[in-house]
Amino acid sequence: MISLSIQVEPFPIVEPLIVRLQESGTEARSQHDAVLLDIDGHRREYNFQGFSFVVRTPPDECIDGDVLLVLPGQTSAHRLIRASSHHNTLLVTEQCDQLCVMCSQPPKKYHTDLFDQFAVAAALAPQGAMIGISGGEPLLHKTRLFEMITKVAVERPDIRFHVLTNGQHLEPSDVETIFQLGRERILWGVPLYSANRNTHDRIVGKDGAFARLELGLVTLMRAGASVELRTVVLQQNWSDLPDLATFINTRLGFISVWALMQLERIGYGRMNWDSSFQDTSTEFEQIRRAVDIATARGIRTSLYNFPLCSVPPEYRDFAPSTISDWKRKYLEFCTDCGARGTCGGFFQWYSHNEGFAALGPL
Ligand code: SF4
Repeated sequence: MISLSIQVEPFPIVEPLIVRLQESGTEARSQHDAVLLDIDGHRREYNFQGFSFVVRTPPDECIDGDVLLVLPGQTSAHRLIRASSHHNTLLVTEQCDQLCVMCSQPPKKYHTDLFDQFAVAAALAPQGAMIGISGGEPLLHKTRLFEMITKVAVERPDIRFHVLTNGQHLEPSDVETIFQLGRERILWGVPLYSANRNTHDRIVGKDGAFARLELGLVTLMRAGASVELRTVVLQQNWSDLPDLATFINTRLGFISVWALMQLERIGYGRMNWDSSFQDTSTEFEQIRRAVDIATARGIRTSLYNFPLCSVPPEYRDFAPSTISDWKRKYLEFCTDCGARGTCGGFFQWYSHNEGFAALGPL
């Protein structure tokens, strides 16, 4: 697994610091750049505004252009942006007002506001980067989030964001702001688990969530936003999927894409695995029907996080490789598979003993 943290030698700061590692040229490209001076085994020394900034990492690891968040007194820095990766996500809060049965990042009570630092980091990302914004629920801090995105948009109009939100906090008064930020700048990833409001509310652990979500989706529609509707496939909503497809066709035709997603075995997803994981390698019929219904009306539909061999051949074009590089793995039987180049494999925390029963090389 690729580490999202990196060892640093103690640096004399009292406030969180954003540093970009620069390994070419002798002049810093910005006040946030640390310019490489020397590599000695695992030790790399940089010049940061006249101070020695030292990182410890394997000699063959590419960290040129990476953007770090260094916290006072800590010897482990967060790699907020990996310049060589397309899978960069800023976890802006761990607070959330839902308690989903499959939550991969169970909520915490406290919040540390690092939006100013995240804005600096995003503005240092490579040209044309798409940066994920995740939580917790980012829109619990809506004003700060919009400020951050607006700031980056002014400084770096080429940067785009993929905001994952439960849609509970979008209101009519947000339409103008979202419209001004622009359809191309933000892809809103919003979860909807069932067209049955009781089932949806049960899955997200919040009474009235479906009704709030409907209002949120109307706000996004009125703002002309790009929406990726996300449905994790679970035992809890398995029989509902075709009805959900019909609901999307008739009520949510404005969305950009509908993503049916396999379960991630971490957090509550791991705790509730036995009662939630739906083995789609042995039974695919509900997904087949849902995809057929949605695509018949022109809804772009995708299968996220599905190993290709768990999907019948005629539906494999719907299943792109979506698991982020830093948390992706392949199993022993993948070694000889002809589809490995296009298959997204498994999450690092997937356990095959409890997982798909009918997989194998293609
Ligand atoms: S054998 Fe492995 S690489 Fe091949 S399709 Fe299945 S999961 Fe993907």
